[in-house]
Amino acid sequence: MHPIVILGSGLAGYTLARELRKLDTAVPLVMVSRDDASFYSKPMLSNALAAGRSAAQLAGSSAAQMSAQLSTRILAHTEVREIDIAARTVQAGNESITYAKLVLALGADPISLPLEGDAAGEVIRVNDLADYARFRTAIEGRKRIALLGAGLIGCEFANDLAAAGYAVEVIDPAPRPLGRLLPEAAGNRLRAALEDLGIGFHLGRTARALTRAGAGLRLELSDGSVIETDAVLSAIGLKPRTGLAVHAGIRVNRGIVTDRRLATSAADVYALGDCAEVDGQLLPFVMPIMHAARALAQTLAGTPTQVSYPAMPVVVKTPALPAVVCPPPAVAGGWRVESDDAGIDARYEDDRGRLRGFALLGAATARKNALAQRLPPVLQ
Ligand SMILES: Cc1cc2nc3c(=O)[nH]c(=O)nc-3n(C[C@H](O)[C@H](O)[C@H](O)COP(=O)(O)OP(=O)(O)OC[C@H]3O[C@@H](n4cnc5c(N)ncnc54)[C@H](O)[C@@H]3O)c2cc1C
Repeated sequence: MHPIVILGSGLAGYTLARELRKLDTAVPLVMVSRDDASFYSKPMLSNALAAGRSAAQLAGSSAAQMSAQLSTRILAHTEVREIDIAARTVQAGNESITYAKLVLALGADPISLPLEGDAAGEVIRVNDLADYARFRTAIEGRKRIALLGAGLIGCEFANDLAAAGYAVEVIDPAPRPLGRLLPEAAGNRLRAALEDLGIGFHLGRTARALTRAGAGLRLELSDGSVIETDAVLSAIGLKPRTGLAVHAGIRVNRGIVTDRRLATSAADVYALGDCAEVDGQLLPFVMPIMHAARALAQTLAGTPTQVSYPAMPVVVKTPALPAVVCPPPAVAGGWRVESDDAGIDARYEDDRGRLRGFALLGAATARKNALAQRLPPVLQ
């Protein structure tokens, strides 16, 4: 009997394996990962520094432990270079594995800003545990960090670095932090809270060049201004890893295209997590992965099941001013913002006065669940 093969040992791969084992303890499972396949919580990467947590401390169970727990053959440090959907095989390192069903849980790559200068290659990105270990080494004994990107992950890193004692300068072309998720008043409040930690903002600008300057670095911005720094961390977004799927002839748009059963255009090939575009949506967050993994486990265990997403608020881990966002879909409407000293409650209502999204800051984050219950599902 050929196995179900899962490519990727991130949250998507492991959650799927766990959910599947709840339904079927016997089906042969193989997981292939180019990293060490230890289980860890990726969201912790952007708030582990101030808490003094090393990469080793963030790693939960090892590949061997996960293999025993999930009765799964795990091939760690093994890159998949090719999928043959006609022969139903994957080329994993030197081994060709024939699959009964194949699941792509390949994640996403950090987007790189093209920079000029002799130090352009020194920009750090943190998208997995090994990156986090390198990041810790790179900033050890340093003081100043320039951070590219004031989105969700950029703001979290900025807060964490500042809380750990670093002097942080944040650069983003948007006029406010979390520009795509927060209405103006909320973005300004978050900015003020982060500035209170000593974080500097350089908004409405991008980075242009990074050059060496003595023991440090010189970051030149699009308006000609210059930031002297010791390290540059980039958090400007992710793009789904689609290369293997493209090469195999599997349909790809922004991500690997799937229907609501997580099925790709190739027979018996599924995708979930950051690499997947499920029913037209890229949702690179934990909650959609949990829902997708539960639905796909049912399908793989023999009960074809479509994924449903309720409204899924995302917690922004900025202790300087905690935030929760549930971005509205692209519907006509407007923000209704209430603000007091304790926080901001911003609700997006459509033209018929229905709640479609929200952004809560400070004490207002306590209303997260109550508001989420009033939102229509993202996918019903
Ligand atoms: C710093 C940070 C903070 C975050 N915070 C939050 C948060 O607070 N809340 C939230 O909801 N979401 C958060 N997210 C997003 C969330 O963590 C991700 O959506 C989720 O972890 C993605 O899981 P994944 O399994 O799809 O991808 P990954 O975890 O990236 O896993 C991909 C796997 O595929 C493997 N792989 C890739 N290519 C190959 C290949 N060719 N051969 C073999 N293996 C391969 C990799 O080795 C890896 O094991 C955060 C993300 C980051 C980066």
